Order: sequence, then structure tokens, then C-alpha cells
Amino acid sequence: MTSSPPIYRRILLKLSGEALLGGSEFGISGDVLARLADEIAGLVANGVGVTLVVGGGNIFRGVGLSGRGMDRVTGDQMGMLSTVINALALQDALEKTGLTARVMSALRINEVCEDYIRRRAIRHLDKGRVVVLAAGTGNPFFTTDSAASLRAVEVGAEILLKATKVDGIYSADPAREDSAQRYTHLTHDEVIDSRLQVMDTTAMVLCRDNDMPIRVFNVQRAGEIGRIVHGIGDAGTLVDSGPKDKGQ
Ligand code: UDP
Repeated sequence: MTSSPPIYRRILLKLSGEALLGGSEFGISGDVLARLADEIAGLVANGVGVTLVVGGGNIFRGVGLSGRGMDRVTGDQMGMLSTVINALALQDALEKTGLTARVMSALRINEVCEDYIRRRAIRHLDKGRVVVLAAGTGNPFFTTDSAASLRAVEVGAEILLKATKVDGIYSADPAREDSAQRYTHLTHDEVIDSRLQVMDTTAMVLCRDNDMPIRVFNVQRAGEIGRIVHGIGDAGTLVDSGPKDKGQ
């Protein structure tokens, strides 16, 4: 996509289920899948190892189901299975571009995909395959943001790219308040202490404790993933540990 070399060799991209909706309220947009797959193919062509963690909020979320009276653990299991559906759709779109992709699930569903085994995931990455991680952590009461943090650390990603619908982290909801300011840089502790609604606290603490930087960006902007990976511009908000000499 560009002549400048990538600044990251291994990334983890967290896509929420919502990111796959396109203009709809439920389900998966083929157009969105195709665009994302093309952007990811561009990264792989430039030697970047790509692990995806996909959410399930476009289909089911456990919290929503339990709010309507369902047992929470059953709801979370349905949520995790929703992420498997999204992961299979992504795998299909990725392979249509000529890439090789592997869905690996934290819940065992061997008829449809591989189990998540860390060393096997790393082997896939080493071979230039895209790894699509499904079923979150495999445990109820967690989110796919926590899974993204955990897997980013496990597979040795240099950064966690958190795809959202807005241009980064703001001081207030930019859809409601005109005065909302975008932060270009925050520390993990600033996000946690200010209770900024970026990722759940479990996910953010895991990133902080393992010195995992996060870039929160707007995935609806075509080409943004590539620009970030190639170090072009200053999209979204970078969350990291801050200056090392602060003793943080
Ligand atoms: N989920 C879970 N454990 C996990 C990850 C996800 O139980 O480790 C369930 C939970 O019900 C969650 C749903 O799967 O609401 C979908 O994940 P998430 O809400 O993180 O999806 P996103 O908001 O990213 O689309």
C-alpha cells in the first residue's frame, strides 16, 4: 500500500462484532468483511504477522441476554459462539483474497475450527497465515477485549490495535458533546484511573502489567489499519506505559 516499511512485525487486531455490521443492526456485512480482508492482505504482503480477535456483539452478548432473563453463563456461552460465527466469516473473506487463515477457538469445536493452542498459533504466524481467534478466553464473565489483551501478550504482538467506531479516546462522548477532545496519548493508568470507556478494566490492567501498547482507532476509515502499521500519521489514541523513568 505504501513504500514506507511497517513499524510493527506482529500485531493483534481486535474487531468488535459491531465493526462487522456495516449499516445493519444485526449480522455481518459482506462489504465490510471484504474491505477488512483486503486491508489485512496488504499488511501480510508487507511481512506483518496478523492475529485477529473478533467479538460477537453483532449477534449476542451475554449481558444483554441475561438482562432479558437468561442465565448469565448460558448467555456468555451464546456470546462466545457468536464470535465463532464471525471468525468463520472473516476466515472466508481472508481466504478469498488469497491469504491462508486459521480460526482457533478457545472452546473446542473441532468440526469447524482448530483449538487455540499458543505454540500452534505462533507457528501459523511464522508461516504467514492469519490467525483468527474465536470464543474469547473460553470463560464466561470475560470479554473479547480481555481475550485480545491476553492473546496479544501470549503471541508476542508488539501492539494491540483496538478497532472502534470513533477516532480514538475522547474526554467525553463526541457524539453527544461538541467540546469533547481527542487524546493523542494516554498511559494505561490514566485510562484506568479516569474510568475512560475504552476497554474493560481487566483488559487494560493486563496490558499495563505486560507493557502492551494499545492504539484505539476508527476502523470505519478506509486504510487506517495500514497507515497505523506503517507509522503514517497519528491516528486515534496511543495508550502505553508512558515514560519509563517515572518508575511506572
Ligand atoms: N464472552 C465471554 N467470554 C469471553 C469473551 C466473550 O463470555 O472471554 C461472551 C460475552 O457474553 C460477550 C460475548 O461473548 O458479551 C461477545 O463478546 P464481546 O461482548 O466482547 O464482543 P464485542 O463487544 O467485541 O463485539
